[in-house]
Formats: sequence, C-alpha cells, structure tokens
Amino acid sequence: MKLDFTPEETAFRDEVRAFLKDALPDDLRQKMINRDHLTKDDTVRWQRILNARGWAVTHWPVQYGGQAWTPAQRYIFQEEMALAHAPEGSPFNVNMIGPVLCEFGTDAQKEQFLAATANIDIWWCQGFSEPGAGSDLASLKTMAVRDGDHYVLNGQKIWTTQAQHADWMFGLFRTDSSGRKQQGITFLLLDMKTPGITVRPIETIDGEHDANEVFFDDVRVPVENIIGEEGKGWDVAKHLLGSERSGIARIGLSKERLSQLRELESRLARDGTLTEEEQRRLAHKLAEVEVELRALELTQLRVVAADAHGGGANAAASILKVKGTEMQQRMTELVTELAGPAGLSMPDHDHAPNDPGEGWVAAAAPFYFTMRKVSIFGGSNEVQKNIIAKTMLGL
Ligand SMILES: Cc1cc2nc3c(=O)[nH]c(=O)nc-3n(C[C@H](O)[C@H](O)[C@H](O)COP(=O)(O)OP(=O)(O)OC[C@H]3O[C@@H](n4cnc5c(N)ncnc54)[C@H](O)[C@@H]3O)c2cc1C
Repeated sequence: MKLDFTPEETAFRDEVRAFLKDALPDDLRQKMINRDHLTKDDTVRWQRILNARGWAVTHWPVQYGGQAWTPAQRYIFQEEMALAHAPEGSPFNVNMIGPVLCEFGTDAQKEQFLAATANIDIWWCQGFSEPGAGSDLASLKTMAVRDGDHYVLNGQKIWTTQAQHADWMFGLFRTDSSGRKQQGITFLLLDMKTPGITVRPIETIDGEHDANEVFFDDVRVPVENIIGEEGKGWDVAKHLLGSERSGIARIGLSKERLSQLRELESRLARDGTLTEEEQRRLAHKLAEVEVELRALELTQLRVVAADAHGGGANAAASILKVKGTEMQQRMTELVTELAGPAGLSMPDHDHAPNDPGEGWVAAAAPFYFTMRKVSIFGGSNEVQKNIIAKTMLGL
C-alpha cells in the first residue's frame, strides 16, 4: 500500500529509522534474520533499550509511558521495526498485563508494577489455560479460597509460556462455583517465588522449552493482589484477550519474511536451483501472499484508526488474529517448500553439532512446526471464527 506521508510523518520515519540503525545490537538483528531462538536476556536487553527511548510501551496511556502517536505514526513505527529486523518486547508485559494494570489497577498496583513492567524488571507469565479449560476458558477450576487476608490456591495451569523465567504470574482463579461459569472467576497477581508453586517443562515439537505446566499446592496470595473485584475477573480477561489478539497479527514480521522469501527466490533462480516452471509457480504464490498481506494491513490500519477514536475492536481483533496467523503460517509453508528435502531435518538439541547446512534450510522445519502454535494460542482460530460469526454476521 502506498501511504502519502506528510512532511512531519516522513521526519518521524527518519527519526525511527536512525534510532533503530544505531540502537539495535547487531547480534540481535542477526538472530532475527536467521530466525534463531531469542533468549530471555535478548528480549530484556532490547526492551530496555526501547524503554530508555520511551518506545517500549507506545500504546499505553501517555501518563504511564505511552506515546500520543497518530495511527500513521503507529503504523510507521511498526513498519520500521520490522524492516530493521528488531525483535518484539515481551508480549505478556507489553500487550497483556500492562494495559490491564493501566485500566483496572489500583494506584498502589500501578505504582508497584507499571514502570517495572515496561522496563521488564518484572518478567510476567500468563496463567489462564488449564487442562480442560482452553477454548472453554470459563470452565477453569483452579480454586482460590479466601482465608483471612489471603487467597489459598490449589490446582493446575498448563501451556504457561516462559513460566520458567517468570518473576510474577497474572492468572484467573475460581473463587465461586455457584453461578454461571463466567461468574466467580477472579484475576490475581502472584509472585512466582511463593511457596507451593511447581513449574514443570513441556518440550514442544521443535525441541524448544517455552511452555510449562504450573501446579499450585496451598499457595497463599495476599488479597491486595486482586485486579478489579472478586468474581469479576472475566471482564478483565476479555479486555486482556482483545489486546493480545490484535498484537498477534504481527503483519510487519510477515512483510519482512515475504521480502526474505523474495530474496531467496531470486538467489535460487540465479543459481539454477529452480526451474523456469518452478519460478513461475513460486512467483504466483508470492503474489497471492502479498495481496492478502496488503488487505490485512488495511484492516489493521482501520482497527488502529477505530481505536484512536475510541471504537470497539472486538471482532476486528479476531479477524486480525485469524488472518495474521494464517499469513505467518503461509510464510513457513513457502520456506519449507523452497528448502525441499534438505529442510526436513530437525535440530538435535541433545547431540549438537548437527550439520547446519545453510542457515535458512536448517531452520525451515523447526520454524514450520513452531509456527503451528500461533493459530492455537491467544484463543484458537476456530473459536475466533465463532466470535466473528456471532458479533459481525449475527449468526
Ligand atoms: C505453544 C502454546 C503456548 C501457549 N501459551 C499460553 C500461555 O502462556 N498462557 C495460557 O494461559 N495459555 C497458553 N496457551 C494455551 C492456549 O490458549 C490454548 O491451547 C488454546 O486456548 C486452546 O485450548 P486447548 O489447548 O485446551 O484446546 P481445546 O480447547 O481442547 O481445542 C481443541 C480443538 O477444538 C477446537 N475447538 C474448541 N472449541 C471449539 C468451538 N467452540 N468451535 C469450534 N472449534 C472448537 C479448537 O479450535 C482446537 O482445534 C498456549 C498454547 C500453546 C499451544
């Protein structure tokens, strides 16, 4: 899409571009280009650099560290970040608990957590899903029973990403089972060092350890760690899931991957790896992807503009989630196709070194498999389609 930037917007783009050129460490840029796994330290380092510039939590309200940017400036910032191969900050801090604290936190909670969350002095994890309560999240059963000035937690969460690194968890717990299942859920913050919490790793198909099971055995959480009111956690969770889903589209990342695919296509065409017929078919597929990506980008711009004018973005967030994740997965399919049989090998994490081949070829299979998760987490795409059908189409 061709945007006609004003001179001020062009100056802003140049400012962002110059900052990223100077501030983004080369090793992080290279890791992003190679699709290497980012460590906790990588994410912390980059989020702190952004935060020092005032650009880590730009969509938060200004009084809590956000930026009063226009939709065009937001668009430019995202675009430049992707073009520079800059990593994203922690989604749990930036897109989930931060906005929740700004909206629902008490003054004391804002004071305690907001600045530390923006600077990632606190690493958060999200304790929502449980065995039997994923899509049907309101069926969650982990209990929080009031005992004086504490809640006592017993039960289990699952798929808790990065819990092994987390200082704090924000989570949903059942304080009452007598009414409708959406009632009686309470949103609590808990220090992961509290006695009675056990974190057990789940290794995923790409060989990485990001997800965990988290068990609670008589875990005592102070009552002041509640967000909002007891039994009203579902409203807080809905607010959080809306911002989680719009962030998940990651259009800038898909655009950057598309341009990598185009470079790869030219290289393989030049060195004769691709026949003319293969080049023709690939060019067709890349054009299709580009058209869809541009349409998605326009939708994203409409959502950003509606947000800026206080418009609701509920079904729009679902559309962005579905289409954005479909595009991310489509990129991994095209990379796998280009890599051919050599791209089928998986890294052997226990018995390195593995013959790495060319970086992108070796990364093709793990990348393909790991990106299957994006249509599941943040509410599966099938469930998002139900939301769109109900709220937009009235079905
Ligand atoms: C890698 C990864 C990381 C995650 N990280 C976190 C995290 O940090 N914190 C956290 O709380 N959770 C996390 N999750 C959990 C995630 O939110 C859930 O996996 C997701 O909501 C789906 O729930 P489920 O796994 O229980 O599947 P189920 O709900 O059992 O769904 C199984 C299948 O049925 C389909 N389905 C279910 N209900 C419907 C329906 N009504 N209509 C049509 N189809 C339906 C689903 O689309 C899916 O294909 C993560 C998941 C993954 C895979």
